[in-house]
Amino acid sequence: MPLPAPAPAEVPPPLRVDRSGAERDDDGLLDRACADATTRVLPVRRDAAPVRAGRLALVEVGGLAAASVPVHEWAFLGRGADGAAVLLAVLADDAPEDLVPDAEWAALRAAGGDLPASEAEVFTNAVALAGWLRDAPFCPACGSRTETRHAGWSRHCPACGREHFPRTDPAVIVLVQSAESEDWILLGANAAWGGDRYSCFAGFAEAGESLEDAVRREVGEESGVRLDDIEYRGSQAWPYPRSLMLGFRARVVADAEARADGEEIVEVRWFDREEIGTALRGEGPVQLPGPASIARRLIDDWFRGLA
Ligand SMILES: [Zn+2]
Repeated sequence: MPLPAPAPAEVPPPLRVDRSGAERDDDGLLDRACADATTRVLPVRRDAAPVRAGRLALVEVGGLAAASVPVHEWAFLGRGADGAAVLLAVLADDAPEDLVPDAEWAALRAAGGDLPASEAEVFTNAVALAGWLRDAPFCPACGSRTETRHAGWSRHCPACGREHFPRTDPAVIVLVQSAESEDWILLGANAAWGGDRYSCFAGFAEAGESLEDAVRREVGEESGVRLDDIEYRGSQAWPYPRSLMLGFRARVVADAEARADGEEIVEVRWFDREEIGTALRGEGPVQLPGPASIARRLIDDWFRGLA
């Protein structure tokens, strides 16, 4: 049964959520929030949440219960600017499409770039936590079924007593600059993408590896170049399924070393500032990463000359 339709209203201000992490120690937090009429809920189904008029469409906690939608797991996302609790409800994959009236289920990777930044942050947070709650119910040490604790932010194993927390896999993503000109960058075309789509080089940090070594190794493997001047630029959580993308800018030792690995990367190419500008405007044949991605931000920052 769908929830009752909301009254027509102006687009609300963007949702901002303070994680209020200290509150998670309170064992009664979720029960009290579920009984509080001011609590709002972000339902998440796989990597999607309801979106209406360019905003996350949160629902009232009572409405979700009345709609008889089974909730796999609850978690406390934090508190909104008005102090009301914001909960995550992890729904089954087959939760009804029309659960939230006038809203569309949108995947984070598709809709995240169109939402206000504070809402994209809440959405990312919710999808990451939901993925862990859904996919990691068993203790990795002894295989027993675990119980959630800390308002959905940890799992306790009743058999061996271990505590488990959501995991994050660090991955590096690198904008590679020419040694010869400030106006050239090296991008690669991935075998999986096809066509004229190019992006920065990226890959996971391996066990025991520093981020700087991961940058040198991944870029070296994919494009053949050695790197100098590795500089950290910023990060982006990317819960597909649980990556933390760490963005870097680096300069090659010698431009002529560039060559594709022929497996993961089918082509590497030097682009000048004018070509990148054309592609950023969506003109010309070359496609760049989407606006929600840190790859796009790395390229955009370079193009705009940001130090
Ligand atoms: Zn265990």
